Amino acid sequence: MVRELYQRLREYFNNLPEPTEEEKQFIRELNAGDFPITSVHRDDLEGKGFDVKKISDNDMQNLAKKMADDYHEQLFWPSMEIIAGEILGFPKVKTKDIVCPKCNSENIRYDIHESRFHCDECPLAWDDKLYVLVEFPEDSAPFEEEGTGYPAWESVDNGALYVSEEDYVRHTGKSPERDKCYRAVCWPDSQKYMGTKGCDPIQDENGIRDFGTSAYWVPLLLMEEAAGQRTDKKKAPVCPECGGTDIDILSDEGVAVCNGCHLEWPYVED
Ligand SMILES: [Zn+2]
Ligand SMILES: [Zn+2]
Repeated sequence: MVRELYQRLREYFNNLPEPTEEEKQFIRELNAGDFPITSVHRDDLEGKGFDVKKISDNDMQNLAKKMADDYHEQLFWPSMEIIAGEILGFPKVKTKDIVCPKCNSENIRYDIHESRFHCDECPLAWDDKLYVLVEFPEDSAPFEEEGTGYPAWESVDNGALYVSEEDYVRHTGKSPERDKCYRAVCWPDSQKYMGTKGCDPIQDENGIRDFGTSAYWVPLLLMEEAAGQRTDKKKAPVCPECGGTDIDILSDEGVAVCNGCHLEWPYVED
């Protein structure tokens, strides 16, 4: 409804023979490139059992605004990307001419579920959001010459650089070791890594330009560990005797001990 109305208003104003100054302003705003998505009506509320006689236009405005904010924060971006890209097949700008850093093939596809590029000519796959810590001086020299990479600040090894996985493969011909891989975590997600061992603040000019202030280099393994711990909790062991879940696992002895009934049983973590 609101979409058609907006479209009709635009046509009406665009076809005014001699628009006033005020009308010209409306024409500019109506042609600014906005396309309304949806609206909320009292009938929608009534359909869910609300007493619409007690709900003012101001209340409706407030509801519409809060629903718009909520949509924008949660579903707007993924929904737009899926419908525009996968369903309607809207073209995307080629960011730059992406070639495989290993074999130079231009036959590259991006897997949005994995967030990785895949080369169709060789088995290489890489992540354009992944960075590799290269140490000074032997490993970092080719990157320094090229002027790529971000300097490491608190790394033991002064002169070390964080370089993109793509650049790393291009120069070394191999994929990086996972324990050398990092992600740039931006504010506010970076808060939980402040002062964490192995995490490095991003303080150089280019780093701040690309990732903002208060961003951190966080080891990939640390991020995966944090994600893994959350899943571990879900399949916590249960005591076969009393059904308790307050269980200590002594992995070096291969047993689990129930803190409720003190039963001890063989247990191997998978
Ligand atoms: Zn390739
Ligand atoms: Zn028990």
